[in-house]
Amino acid sequence: MPELPEVEITCLGLQPILKQTIKSIVIRNSYLRWPVPSHLKKTLPNKKVLNIKRRAKYILIQFENAHLMIHLGMSGRLEIDEKGTHIHKHNHVEIEFKNTKNILRYIDPRRFGSIHWVDGDINQHFLISKLGPEPLERLFTDKYLFSKIQNKKTSIKKIIMDHHIVVGVGNIYASEALFKSGVLPSKLGQDVTLSECKKIVKYIKETLKKAIELGGSSLRDFYSVNGQSGYFQQTYKVYGRKGKPCRKCKSLIESKIIAQRSSFYCPSCQG
Ligand SMILES: [Zn+2]
Repeated sequence: MPELPEVEITCLGLQPILKQTIKSIVIRNSYLRWPVPSHLKKTLPNKKVLNIKRRAKYILIQFENAHLMIHLGMSGRLEIDEKGTHIHKHNHVEIEFKNTKNILRYIDPRRFGSIHWVDGDINQHFLISKLGPEPLERLFTDKYLFSKIQNKKTSIKKIIMDHHIVVGVGNIYASEALFKSGVLPSKLGQDVTLSECKKIVKYIKETLKKAIELGGSSLRDFYSVNGQSGYFQQTYKVYGRKGKPCRKCKSLIESKIIAQRSSFYCPSCQG
């Protein structure tokens, strides 16, 4: 599943369409998680791409007073290809631009992704308005996290994966950040101290930045991004390493289901 770093890298990879004007859109299959709006065939032509940014795992392509909001779901990806190149079987949507051979393709075998058209203020959209702060931005601090865990009888892992509290901390990044912080994923929010919050926030930021850097370093040959690229995988400390020796203390990594997700941890390093 594309996580925040892959989405960030996708946004960087989309730079070639910045300032480009759309010629047309082809919708081959509108049945994504939500139907692709058919009015896009009329709405999009002649619109100029003013900016490309990310909010949580949404890719926001900005036009004058409106956005195209794309979510990659479980298996989606965006590719910039040249016109006339081979069409992928799961290429559901294609956007052509004026005065360039570049086309933007949305490919999604499992079709859990979505494409929305949002007029006006994007922050008022129902999928965006209730989201917590971005993990890499200044609003996400130790004091903020500490304020959110008071009296919480929920595990810290579930709390940091809750997008109302902070967005974009997926299972992998939560597991890795908690290992580096020395905090067990099952520890209840109310028992986590401010100094532990400090570490958790620091390592969430660090882990995500590292993954973005590693993905970004392959941007030279970038024109497609997919969630399985695995730049970051070789560096996992605990995620997916059940039964393997801890990279710090050699104890065997354990796993446990917390909030329906596998959680990996070192029983010695994390308390
Ligand atoms: Zn250990």
